[in-house]
Amino acid sequence: MDSNSIYQKSREEVLEVGEKYNLAEEKLEEFLEPDRVLEVKIPIKIDNELVNFRGFRSQHNNNLGPYKGGLRFHQNVNKDEVMALSLWMSLKCAVAGLPFGGGKGGIIIDPKTLSDSESERLCKAYALFLEPHIGPWKDVPAPDVNTGEREMAWMLDSYEKKVGHHAPATFTGKPLELGGSQGRTEATGLGGFYVLASYSEVTRMIPVKTTIAVQGFGNVGYWFAKFATGVGYKAVAISDSSGGIYDSNGLNVEKLSQLKEKYGSFNKIPKTKDHELITNNELLALKVDVLVPAALENAIHERNVKDIKAKVILEMANGPTTPEADAILSSNEVDILPDVLCNAGGVTVSYFEWVQNLNGYSWTKEKVIKELKKIMDSSFEEIYQVVQQKKVSYRKAAYILAIKRIVNAMMLRGRL
Ligand code: NAD
Repeated sequence: MDSNSIYQKSREEVLEVGEKYNLAEEKLEEFLEPDRVLEVKIPIKIDNELVNFRGFRSQHNNNLGPYKGGLRFHQNVNKDEVMALSLWMSLKCAVAGLPFGGGKGGIIIDPKTLSDSESERLCKAYALFLEPHIGPWKDVPAPDVNTGEREMAWMLDSYEKKVGHHAPATFTGKPLELGGSQGRTEATGLGGFYVLASYSEVTRMIPVKTTIAVQGFGNVGYWFAKFATGVGYKAVAISDSSGGIYDSNGLNVEKLSQLKEKYGSFNKIPKTKDHELITNNELLALKVDVLVPAALENAIHERNVKDIKAKVILEMANGPTTPEADAILSSNEVDILPDVLCNAGGVTVSYFEWVQNLNGYSWTKEKVIKELKKIMDSSFEEIYQVVQQKKVSYRKAAYILAIKRIVNAMMLRGRL
């Protein structure tokens, strides 16, 4: 395997944690290997020519329940990436105590190059390929990078036509009209905010005295910043891919959202006496209490880690800190609240969607939010207990809990 492989790096992290805490290597090896990685060629007619797209679905581990995880459309999708992301999904579901295993899929495509009808045909063809391998009790896909409600609706339709009956619990992240859940849009940002609130409580961090910088102002960054500033945390800087906006007195998230809507990107927003424009690198290097990477994988790496001055990193993106940067930050006593905990709000509300679909019943938004808070609070508490007892980082504590739960289920089933 390629030494730069992100799957290989994830394997090494899990092995290191497992070995230190008396989990036998052969058991971990057994857990690390995905159950299967499906690969398909999807022929679609584009402008009267047949074009072959390549798609994947990695089904990592289903000992705790059906495989669960997103489907991404991106030009950089590859087998290694979906394998790593499916391993993270196994860990994330286990950390939150959800009855799911990990899965992840994708198609190598820049979706901007497709018309709406081409996207629809691609989604429907991909769902037909997946049909024998997915279903409410087998594997439950969801949106990921460049896919959303629209793609889930098309895939559900194609799947249901093939199986000959309704099966809304096969996909989550659907439009409300087709069985989607209230509260899914804000779930990931809100879940991260609950983690921040729990962490603040145990470390006695006072919201109004706590400064935050958020990298990324998409679904996750926007909702996280909105909930955090709503109770007084001071978001002094927020960025999108074009750059960041800084105000030492704290930004108004709604106002920023309107400015982004008006000007398209942050670097086009005119500078005022209230705020300055900064680069993404400057944002990462700010002297704030909490840095929140909410955009990309590998945002904090070996080359920029020396600039980081934040005391706490709250990972809302998937894999925003490389293992090398993680080791350096941990040795500098920076607390890193890991992605498998912080962004688990999304898959948790997806789980609620699945539960509602299986029952043919829908919950109110208040119920969704109340249940989400319960799961996020108890996940934090369980990890915090391990941090205290074993004197390990939050990431290691999360991995210890997750691996133990999965390995235990494998042993109970007689699979180990
Ligand atoms: P999004 O596409 O809605 O937003 C991404 C944001 O990141 C945008 O503001 C974009 O401008 C910004 N961005 C892109 N490149 C950047 C760069 N180089 N520097 C700074 N900012 C940059 O995506 P999202 O749904 O908010 O997801 C963000 C992250 O959270 C991803 O890592 C995703 O995998 C993870 N995540 C999302 C969910 C969810 O429910 N949406 C759940 C779990 C994890």
